Amino acid sequence: MSVYKTPLQDTLFIFNDVLNLNKYLGRGAFADLSVEDVLIILEQGSKFVEDKIYPLNKLGDHHGCVLNQDHSVSTPPGFKQVYQEFCNGGWNKLSAPQEFGGQGLPTIISTAFEEYSISANMAFSMYPGLTQDAVLTIATVGDPLQKKTYLPKMVEGVWSGTMNLTEPQCGTDLGLTKTSAVLQEDGTYKITGSKIFISSGEHDLTENIIHLVLARIPDSPAGTKGLSMFIVPKFIVDENGNLVSRNNLKCMNVEKKMGIHGNATCEILYDEAQGFLIGEKNKGLNSMFVMMNIARLQTGMQGLAISELARQKAIDYSRLRKQGRDRSGAGGSIPIIDHADIKRILAGISAFTEGARAVALWTAFLMDLEEENFESVTNAEAKQLVGFLTPIIKAYFTDNAFFKASDALQCFGGYGYIKDYEIEQLVRDVRVAMIYEGTNSIQAMDLVFRKVLLDNGESIELIGRLIENLAADSYSVKNRKIFDLLSSALMHLNEATTWLREKSAQNEMKLIESTAVYFLRLCGHVIFGYIWLRIMIAASKLDTVDEINNRFAKKKLATGEFFFYQVLSESGFLLKNIKNSNANLLGDVISDGIA
Ligand SMILES: Cc1cc2nc3c(=O)[nH]c(=O)nc-3n(C[C@H](O)[C@H](O)[C@H](O)COP(=O)(O)OP(=O)(O)OC[C@H]3O[C@@H](n4cnc5c(N)ncnc54)[C@H](O)[C@@H]3O)c2cc1C
Repeated sequence: MSVYKTPLQDTLFIFNDVLNLNKYLGRGAFADLSVEDVLIILEQGSKFVEDKIYPLNKLGDHHGCVLNQDHSVSTPPGFKQVYQEFCNGGWNKLSAPQEFGGQGLPTIISTAFEEYSISANMAFSMYPGLTQDAVLTIATVGDPLQKKTYLPKMVEGVWSGTMNLTEPQCGTDLGLTKTSAVLQEDGTYKITGSKIFISSGEHDLTENIIHLVLARIPDSPAGTKGLSMFIVPKFIVDENGNLVSRNNLKCMNVEKKMGIHGNATCEILYDEAQGFLIGEKNKGLNSMFVMMNIARLQTGMQGLAISELARQKAIDYSRLRKQGRDRSGAGGSIPIIDHADIKRILAGISAFTEGARAVALWTAFLMDLEEENFESVTNAEAKQLVGFLTPIIKAYFTDNAFFKASDALQCFGGYGYIKDYEIEQLVRDVRVAMIYEGTNSIQAMDLVFRKVLLDNGESIELIGRLIENLAADSYSVKNRKIFDLLSSALMHLNEATTWLREKSAQNEMKLIESTAVYFLRLCGHVIFGYIWLRIMIAASKLDTVDEINNRFAKKKLATGEFFFYQVLSESGFLLKNIKNSNANLLGDVISDGIA
């Protein structure tokens, strides 16, 4: 079996040299942290995921989850034991609120660990991952009694959490939700309906499962404005966290699916189950958005994490496999990694993965800074940026990750298609990340309609300003042309934004919709350009007397250059695609009655 090694050196480089985290240690959100603390957490976290979680990855894929006759679900062998150890080590609560037993560490620390844990086993990490999202949601919208009742045990990992939106007739269009919530005399609700595709919906890892459920109270308006959110626990509990009675809900089915077999994707039937309103009546979608926004960032992390694992496997294999000769014709077969085309594939995967890691950690840093006002943005701008980056991280990361995992598989030739090499699992596992938490097309609409058009292009201007701030420093990068390439991609983005705003003023909504995916990709490219320039500036300042630093800096500068010349170059094409879009033409291509 191949191994997984966490990219610790790269994480530390981003922390220390790209984001200059050291400057902030001991202040604000980083008050209780020292350089040594950060290192110890990441080193120990690396050891845990490499030794404990990763060995279950293939096994979980092979074994899957089993629905038992009593409607309970068994997770793959080993999951329960390692989940216990995961919680005992506190890995499930790194950034959870301290008042409920969490460690209260900055988001940037838990985000770094999250990448490692997902790479090691995406299906496994979804159990604690969704619980962390549910914890933050209850902490944000719950009342004091709800927080006291549910959060300590959820933070401890003794209880887990889920999100229940999807029903057979609705996934994207939640306005069609049928699950009903009927008020009882004691102020609780009876929840009735069927939720499908619920990740971690039923399992044997925790003693209780706290479902957050979207449902409609009968006198509520139709559509999304009539949805409310409810806490529906598998076991009803008292306020001291004791289990009182089994609630009327059960798992009817565990989906047989393409990937993430180790995570139980469940159909849950609620049959007059007892539920508790959380947040305001009829504002359930707003409440659920707290969870969805965190989960969208987490889904983006799945893209980064799987791409990193695929990268490592492809590099290892390409070093060992010998095929073909050098073009000069001299000598025998050479390792395929020495072929320029294989190097090109691997460079593409690295340019995405390393850029994505820096974007993810920068975004987490912005979340930590929201109350602090460091970096070159105000608190309000940091918040705005996180909102703007969320659909990009979700969709750009996961679109790229699927194709990068497929590229990695290509390096294996025919063996890539065979299960023994553990690369085909990654292509299957990561595919769902383009679908759930709102499909990537829906992310693109969110970006265009809710983020860019609603804020009159302010976020794009902010990105432009951040790029401009790098102008002086970019002289330290060996090739000043890099900054010019980024400036021209930014011009393409500005032009596309102006075009969108003009079309919006003309009410050409179908036309805008047909270009949203191109626009998101263009934004993703520019954001990655911004971060790659920061990486290159930081790399060019490394002390290269040290041999390891020297090689690291050289690799970073080369990968960055690859990004600017081979990836960012697409920005001009994307702008053309946007401007050449024609919604009527699409109508003619797909026309009724013609095959
Ligand atoms: C493994 C797995 C785990 C999941 N986990 C959860 C979970 O934990 N909780 C949960 O609630 N759900 C979960 N889901 C459900 C998931 O979020 C939905 O499948 C997803 O949101 C898409 O909904 P849908 O499947 O109904 O597709 P549809 O909404 O029917 O969409 C079909 C296609 O039409 C497009 N489309 C739909 N509406 C529009 C529009 N307005 N404009 C443009 N295009 C549109 C979509 O982009 C998509 O390509 C999970 C799904 C899977 C497969």
